[in-house]
Amino acid sequence: MENAFSAYHRRTIVDRLASQNWDLLVIGGGITGAGIALDASLRGLRVGLIEKSDFGSGTSSRSTKLIHGGLRYLKQGEFKLVQEVGRERAILHTNAPHLVVPVPMLLPIYKGGTFGYWASSIGLAIYDWLAGVKRHERRKMLSKQEVITHEPLLKKEGLKGGGLYYEYRTDDARLTLNIIKTAVHYGTKAVNYVEATQFIFRAEKVIGVRVQDRITGEEAELYASTIVNAAGPWSDRIRQLDGSLQGKRLVLSKGVHLVVEHHKLPVQHSVYFDAPDGRMVFIIPRGKITYIGTTDTAYHASIDNPNTTKQDRDYLIHAVNVMFPQVHLSPQDIQSHWAGLRPLIYQEGKNPSELSRKDEIIISHSGLITIAGGKLTGFRKMAQRIVDIVVKQVKPNDGRSFAPCTTDKVVISGGERLGNIGKEGLIQRGRKRGIQESILAEWLDLYGTNILEIYKRYDRIPPHTSERSLKAQLQYSIEEEMTVNAVDFLKLRTGWTYFQFKKAETEAESVLRLMADLLTWKSEEKDSQKKAVEQLLKQMQEFHDEDTFL
Ligand code: FAD
Repeated sequence: MENAFSAYHRRTIVDRLASQNWDLLVIGGGITGAGIALDASLRGLRVGLIEKSDFGSGTSSRSTKLIHGGLRYLKQGEFKLVQEVGRERAILHTNAPHLVVPVPMLLPIYKGGTFGYWASSIGLAIYDWLAGVKRHERRKMLSKQEVITHEPLLKKEGLKGGGLYYEYRTDDARLTLNIIKTAVHYGTKAVNYVEATQFIFRAEKVIGVRVQDRITGEEAELYASTIVNAAGPWSDRIRQLDGSLQGKRLVLSKGVHLVVEHHKLPVQHSVYFDAPDGRMVFIIPRGKITYIGTTDTAYHASIDNPNTTKQDRDYLIHAVNVMFPQVHLSPQDIQSHWAGLRPLIYQEGKNPSELSRKDEIIISHSGLITIAGGKLTGFRKMAQRIVDIVVKQVKPNDGRSFAPCTTDKVVISGGERLGNIGKEGLIQRGRKRGIQESILAEWLDLYGTNILEIYKRYDRIPPHTSERSLKAQLQYSIEEEMTVNAVDFLKLRTGWTYFQFKKAETEAESVLRLMADLLTWKSEEKDSQKKAVEQLLKQMQEFHDEDTFL
């Protein structure tokens, strides 16, 4: 088959999905579903994956974008978990070095704060040991003066010192996409904008799903020996379709992040600090912006469109202004924002921030396997546990047997080591073509070694074509990343609406025009794409009075 992850071949992929009985069908193209599809394909299972919107468009593009080392678990006395999470972080950094990068994190310590100086010093040292932190990334305790030198804008009153340790930063949407891309490379058939609408049963066992292609409107039936519900915040809706929503249930907690231009909040490091109500908040510099997050509030409104309210915004602004008294952030400084929903398992009498972040597996009478909860960081282990269950249930009658989990050794698309070319070599190849330095740096972050695939397309475009580099990038995105909508390119494929809002605004018109050309949109489609982009840009700067139910 031609390129198995191309927007041009979506229809063929849907037909292919409908043409055979799969060993495993995964519902949901967030990080959880992505990890399961990759693991299962590597073990030799025949895997299909459907996503009702774009890949990573749910919680997996709305997180704090950190691959945690598990410091929080240490505080809860979960030593084994700290070990596991530390190991996972190291594996991800090795396998996806372009997407998972170490960043120093400053933990200022104040009189009466969550962490005392000696408790932090000992805690961080235990954490280094348990999580197997590399020597040069081990914690460093700082005196009050050293903290001020590191971050001169921090509040000085009550400051006792600080700890400097490492967290790893990622682009959650691209991590998800690249894991799916890798799964597709190993045989998964994955498609976006295909929604599971109903289950198909035989003798009360679930044997398939009815789906609707949200681009073409067509319907199809997909069959599989096992079906995994990896629908994140939507998981209970899927369980409802299966008639199995009883016992454990999800509660959703909303988390909001705000983005400001870096010069408005010019921190030199990421900072993890106490908000006035005792919760912990991150401030993370990234290129020309700094983002701030997060809130943690019970959520009962629309799962499809979680919004940022004025109250969410003001809570975070206040936390920053208390900790950085000279900064004076105001609502007008917010360049963009995002709100995500944590799918957590309900526990009697606990509020959202007290609920466990651990994942849960629920197997219904119909055989539907649901996995919910968890973190980006733990996706590989979650997948391993699920696929261990799946291989026991799939009983191939053609003599096939399945290999053990190998995802710890598999390079994620874009993370390949190409002999001794290295980052500089990749950039050098772009420089020779005359591509702007800033574009090259961005492409390297977004695509890793797949930058070479964009160069190939760049070379095929006549030299004096205007917008040659954007065109090459869009061609790659459509042909190799199944990009079907302009909003997905501006938000999920490039992160522009999050991290470079002005660029998103200035490039929107060109993106629409070039995509219309490449995907041969008719005038009606052009209009609706334009409207969707306008709405997205408006949304990124809009704050609601309250959560919306639509
Ligand atoms: P999702 O990403 O939501 O994916 C589920 C997918 O299923 C969606 O894309 C949806 O469209 C699809 N779907 C739903 N219904 C259907 C259907 N009927 N048919 C087909 N598809 C369907 N974790 C970390 O490790 N580090 C962090 O820094 C971090 N920060 C966070 C901050 C916030 C504010 C939040 C909310 C979470 C954070 N997390 C973090 C947790 C992490 O983001 C989530 O655990 C993870 O993204 C959940 O992924 P998922 O695949 O389970 O769900």
